[in-house]
Amino acid sequence: MKSTDRNNQSLSQPSTPLKDGHGRRVEYLRLSVTDRCDLRCRYCLPRDYCKFEQPSHWLSFEEIERLVSAFAHLGLKRVRLTGGEPLLRKNLANLATRLAIVPGIEDLSLSTNGTRLKTQAVRLRDAGVSRLNVSLDTLDRARFAAITGRDVLPEVLAGLDVARAENFRLIKINMVALADTDDDQVDAMTAYCLERGFILRLIETMPIGEAGRKAGFVSLRPLQERLRARYNLVDGMVPGGGPARYLVSADGSFQIGFITPLSQHFCDTCNRVRLTVDGQLCLCLGQHNSVDLRTPLRTGISDAALEQVLVEALRGKPKRHEFEDQPQRLRRVMSTTGG
Ligand code: SAM
Repeated sequence: MKSTDRNNQSLSQPSTPLKDGHGRRVEYLRLSVTDRCDLRCRYCLPRDYCKFEQPSHWLSFEEIERLVSAFAHLGLKRVRLTGGEPLLRKNLANLATRLAIVPGIEDLSLSTNGTRLKTQAVRLRDAGVSRLNVSLDTLDRARFAAITGRDVLPEVLAGLDVARAENFRLIKINMVALADTDDDQVDAMTAYCLERGFILRLIETMPIGEAGRKAGFVSLRPLQERLRARYNLVDGMVPGGGPARYLVSADGSFQIGFITPLSQHFCDTCNRVRLTVDGQLCLCLGQHNSVDLRTPLRTGISDAALEQVLVEALRGKPKRHEFEDQPQRLRRVMSTTGG
């Protein structure tokens, strides 16, 4: 059956909820379209890393669309394009156009480091990408170069200006908290985001890959409490806020999120799985297991059998991550799964 046939059929068929073995409904796919990146953030990709997937293993846009259609037929609602750096994948906007109209997909978003946003933001918005997460750990040019290995902060900020003018529904800034991230840097980022209507989220460094383990863990709790007192914030909610816990001002004009996979994990409400560029379905960011979808896709599996593979894969989604207990088992680098 062609995927368009299935799409037509899906309009008349009730979808089966994608539930895992722990009763969690999975409705969100993070889709890595490349494992390559033009930055080498010191907590993510080792500077000399070269174990990238060979292009013949990359899922084609047709294969990706087929998989997303199968997932959506089972109840998937949201897709985030990620990487590596997704904007390195040629003709990404064409893929976005195809995914944005898959029946059942209600939300298409993108995670990017922003280096190429200036030239691609308009096309991506037109293609149906409605929300952006942009990684930005500092507004200090020298520090940015030291963290990422490239002196391209001005390009990232210019990209964000273009994206802002494009009226994306939401732009979030993801700032990884490192051992040397101080309150001045957080204050500067807070002011930058507030002025532009961006939502700032601070992220605890996860021990993923050698770089992630070396970077060291800093609990966000003390910073959270300092910001709560300094800006007079209370616990709050942000629509589409994801796993972050938010502090908000009384009038709602100021929101800051904290993603705390280690100090306060959120595995009980995990609603997502990840697909690598070579078609491996990763069921938990903090565990090494995965299910190969590339082989069935390339050996003529039927749509019905593919859906069955997805349903069974989901049953094996681990209850929680192993960041504390077995970090050394996580051999993937973050650039493989896209966060
Ligand atoms: N290149 C895109 C970007 O920069 O958003 C997508 C991929 S990147 C791996 C996704 C997110 O993972 C970024 O926000 C990045 O800062 C975060 N990240 C990478 N390594 C991490 C680690 N060890 N701990 C916590 N976050 C990490």
